[in-house]
Amino acid sequence: MTAEKGFFGDFGGSFVPENLQKALDKIEEAFETYKDDPEFVKEYKDVLKEYVGRDNPLTYAERLTKIYGGPKIYLKREDLNHTGAHKINNVIGQILLAKRMGTHRIIAETGAGQHGVATATACAMFGMDCTIYMGKLDTERQALNVFRMELLGAEVVAVSQGQGRLKDAVDVALGDLVENYANTFYLLGSAVGPHPYPSIVKYFQSVISEESKRQILEKEGKLPAAVFAVTGGGSNAIGSFAHYIEEEGVRLIGSEPEEAATMSKGTATELHGFKTLVLQDENGNPAPTYSIAAGLDYPGIGPEHSYLKESGRAEYYTVSKKEVMDAFKELSSTEGIIPALESAHAVALVKKMSPEFSSGESVIVTISGRGDKDVAHVHDLLQNDAVFQ
Ligand SMILES: *Cc1c(COP(=O)(O)O)cnc(C)c1O
Repeated sequence: MTAEKGFFGDFGGSFVPENLQKALDKIEEAFETYKDDPEFVKEYKDVLKEYVGRDNPLTYAERLTKIYGGPKIYLKREDLNHTGAHKINNVIGQILLAKRMGTHRIIAETGAGQHGVATATACAMFGMDCTIYMGKLDTERQALNVFRMELLGAEVVAVSQGQGRLKDAVDVALGDLVENYANTFYLLGSAVGPHPYPSIVKYFQSVISEESKRQILEKEGKLPAAVFAVTGGGSNAIGSFAHYIEEEGVRLIGSEPEEAATMSKGTATELHGFKTLVLQDENGNPAPTYSIAAGLDYPGIGPEHSYLKESGRAEYYTVSKKEVMDAFKELSSTEGIIPALESAHAVALVKKMSPEFSSGESVIVTISGRGDKDVAHVHDLLQNDAVFQ
């Protein structure tokens, strides 16, 4: 890693207009001040315990282990967090940071609505003003999540400029930040974006591997052979990997959809103000992606993942829709845990790679969220998509 600020090898950085850089500098300064402040860390951990319900368990999946016939499979249960996924870890952390900065107005972007709902939830609890930008098309498709956010007291702004999608919502949110950064905090939802966001999101999501490392040592007396996680923007994965990066014996393995294979097929370029691997079309524009899991529909990935891949420290592979659906059903019927479709990508990769491990080894797979939100969609896919017949 170079010493240059915000870079992971050749990736990351901050390529933004000067007025936006000012806002980012202010956030970076606050993060550097508080990340090692024992009082700040204690407040963060207290909220995670009392509101989110952490520590969540590291569950041994005994029946799934038998069926897959490879290593002992442990599930890191982010699905058991309040709001049902890992996103709340990061949201709580950034709101606490905003509070220390004296800010009472939070803005965020959301695509399918998961990050928006997590943000609106925590804003309600902390009594913060909350504005969520969402592409107009997305507000129509995810009407129920819009209602959830409104119920939680947030204002949802439907963005109709451009294509009315996530990218357009990000543009408008950044414009708001530039104009109002004296009293506004932009709460970014994944390990992406210009510096300092990838480092901030990693810091708050690292609680996943901080816990899992302690838990696996208690249960197995040794480190796992591998840690598996799904990568969309890369936040649950970087949090799942963080405390193992220095442990050379632990393989770090990311799973991604064939239809949004950023790591497997992407090339280095600049996207949304930072350098990373991006799926591009023949003209060098970000390629349209499609995933059965809404949370994975993004053509880029956090810069540290690009670096971990290029340096060989982490590995990334794709899984097919069919493999994901099989894993979704298998985890549900063998363990009584219905995973988010996103998380089912990680389970599918464990199955695919299990011949590479022995039964004396253990692996950890992060269940990034619960699947209640996906049940109707899966029902639909199983009935109407020829791939699954
Ligand atoms: C948003 C989401 C993801 C993908 O985001 P990352 O930043 O890659 O973690 C994965 N799983 C669930 C349940 C999500 O809600």
